[in-house]
Amino acid sequence: MVTLGTLLKDARLVIEKSDALVLLCELVKKDKGWVLTHRSEEVSDDVYGEYRKMVMRRAAGEPVAYITGKKEFYSLDFEVTRDVLIPRPDTEVLAEWAIENSDSQTEVLDICTGSGCLGLTVAYYKQCKVTLVDISEAALGIAKRNAEILGIDAEFVKCDILTDTCSGRYDVIISNPPYVETPMLDSLMPDVRLYEPELALDGGRDGLMFYPVIIKKASSILKDNGKLGVEVGIGQAKAVAETMKENNFENITVLKDLAGIERVVTGCKN
Ligand code: GLN
Repeated sequence: MVTLGTLLKDARLVIEKSDALVLLCELVKKDKGWVLTHRSEEVSDDVYGEYRKMVMRRAAGEPVAYITGKKEFYSLDFEVTRDVLIPRPDTEVLAEWAIENSDSQTEVLDICTGSGCLGLTVAYYKQCKVTLVDISEAALGIAKRNAEILGIDAEFVKCDILTDTCSGRYDVIISNPPYVETPMLDSLMPDVRLYEPELALDGGRDGLMFYPVIIKKASSILKDNGKLGVEVGIGQAKAVAETMKENNFENITVLKDLAGIERVVTGCKN
C-alpha cells in the first residue's frame, strides 16, 4: 500500500508541488490541511491509479482546473470543462465593481458568460436578478449547472452578440468578451492555447472586435443611469474607453488588476 505522502513526493518529480496537492485533495475529497497532516494515510490501488492519471494529464500540460473540473472565483467554486474559459483572478476586479454597483433590486446582464462566474458571483452576493448570455450551448450548460449549485434562479439566453439583437432592460451590464488578437493566439501559453476554447479567446485581428458591439447594444438596453463594465486585455483600455465616450457613456473609469494592469473599463449611460 502506498501513502498520501508517497503520492505527493512521486508527483513532484513531474509536476509542481502546489498542483500535486490540489489534485490529491480533489481525489480524496479533503482539504490541503488534512492531506498535509495525514501523509502516512494509506490509499487503495484504485486511488493510486486515478492519481497517476491525473498527474500525467497535468504533466502533459492540461490545466489543473480542467482535471479537477472546478475553479475557485471570488471564494465560490465554479464547475468548468473545456467548453469554458477557466475563471481568472484578473476578472475578480470586474466582479467586485459589479457587486459594488448592485443591490437586491438590480437587474444584471452578463454577456459572453462562459462558466457564469461573473454574473453568478454578483447574483450570489447581492441576491439580485441575473441574465447570462453566451453563443455556446455547451457553455450555457455549464453556467446553468453553476447556477443550480449556487442556488441562483438565473435566466439563460443563447445568442451571438455580434449578430443577434438583444432585448430586456438592465441596470448593470458586465462582460469579459474574447479579447486576444487573432495573430497572438499562437503565442499564448501552451496550457491556454491547447486546452482553453478559442471561441472564448479570439477577439479578432485587433482583439477589439466585441467592444463596439457590446457598447452599442448596452447603450440601448441599459436603463437610464445604468452601468456597463467590461474586462479588457493589456493595452486595450484606452481604445475601449474611447468607444464608450463616442457612444455617450459618462464617468468612464479604468480599473487596474492586482498586477497593476488596466483591466476593466466602466461607464455610466448618459
Ligand atoms: N485573460 C485571458 C488570457 O489572456 C483572455 C480572456 C479573454 O479573452 N476574455 O488568456
